[in-house]
Amino acid sequence: MLLSDKYPFLTNYFEKGINNKLNNKGVPIAHSLLFWGSDLESQYTIAKEIARLLNCTGDHSDNCQCLNCKWIRENQHPAVLTITRMDNKPADDETKTVISIKQADMIKNSLMTSSEFYRVFIFCDKDDEGNIRGLNPQNFQEETANSMLKIIEEPNDRIMFIFLTVNKEDIISTIISRSQCFNISKTEKNDFRWDSITNIFTNYWGFKRENTFDIAQNLFEASKETAPKKILEDIQNYILSILKTNPGQIALIEDIKHVETAKKEIELGMSPQNVFENMCLKLIK
Ligand SMILES: [Zn+2]
Repeated sequence: MLLSDKYPFLTNYFEKGINNKLNNKGVPIAHSLLFWGSDLESQYTIAKEIARLLNCTGDHSDNCQCLNCKWIRENQHPAVLTITRMDNKPADDETKTVISIKQADMIKNSLMTSSEFYRVFIFCDKDDEGNIRGLNPQNFQEETANSMLKIIEEPNDRIMFIFLTVNKEDIISTIISRSQCFNISKTEKNDFRWDSITNIFTNYWGFKRENTFDIAQNLFEASKETAPKKILEDIQNYILSILKTNPGQIALIEDIKHVETAKKEIELGMSPQNVFENMCLKLIK
């Protein structure tokens, strides 16, 4: 399954943030990210995908064959490092059970020199078969985490840290407070349905502002077949289903409130066309 099918909201969010970062406009992707939840394989894939898009010198497509994209896919890129208790250790580091202070020092030293690349450090754990596992207080200890706070807090411009874990509580609060956190859990089956707005309003966060009135018009046309209130309920169900796999997304919660307002306006007898237009103006940014 493609990441963009599995995590449409997150994928879109990161692509936008990376674009903004590379073009110096809008809200850029944060320089420290924490992924938590049960889907560690996807967390790792998303982390590598972020590193790939930041370093791509080709067309940024899924199959881009530029050298950076190839290296990152093959885990061969010199500036995109997976840091685990086993991988990327200095020669004199004999620890096997923890990400060590020596590793942290190695990273700090490497950052003293400039690089032509966007440097991305992915912190996680692996089991004996090489499956991705999460950070916890045993493999990523407080002392090591704290020794890196300064570089996480004041990184230079082309550096990113990504931490992977199952439980957010397993990560020391000083890292959490310096990172933007995203829940990436295995998707549960959910019972929400939104038939009336499929193809009209799904993936609305990718809509362009200049098309707002056309989209409102599409909803209005649909409301000739389906009651306006039912359409608004379907939009809410849709957002709720996305929220379930992307909890904590304040923007989605705000959107649900805007749709709730629209439902009240319909109940008060306002014209559906106006209600849809008002709502679309708030949801399409
Ligand atoms: Zn590329």
